[in-house]
Amino acid sequence: MKNITHIISKEIICSICQNHFKIIWEASINTWLDPELIKKILDDAYYYECPKCNSEIHLDTKILINCPKGMFWISTAENLDVKQQILRKYEVIDENNEIIRPSFRDLPQGEQTVRGGSNASSFLKKELEKIKEEILKDEKLDNPFNNSKKKDNNL
Ligand SMILES: [Zn+2]
Repeated sequence: MKNITHIISKEIICSICQNHFKIIWEASINTWLDPELIKKILDDAYYYECPKCNSEIHLDTKILINCPKGMFWISTAENLDVKQQILRKYEVIDENNEIIRPSFRDLPQGEQTVRGGSNASSFLKKELEKIKEEILKDEKLDNPFNNSKKKDNNL
């Protein structure tokens, strides 16, 4: 299947201490499979903690959205109003800024093999988890999401 939610990793530089560290995020989001990831965009959940100085670093990047109305880019650096306007235009969110869950019937021809509702969706989620694990293993990453544990211990 083309244009699935795609998770990638990248090294970023902490603007406070210049430390280089790797993060993972969704370079593209398929709203049929992962509509809940749109919430990350609306909440601007693209802050990553520097493992060295614990500063919160914002990831300024463009994310490709694949939805029933087409494909478009959205920047994490835009303010919320602009993001909501774009997402509303493509009917990814409604006028109350609630995420619209597309029906699997709206899938383009040739991509209908994932039909089957929640089973297909949870299968793909498992696949994504596998990809995520492979990225972490391949690049010998420290999982950036483990830092929260470290912080708790320090408190
Ligand atoms: Zn830092």
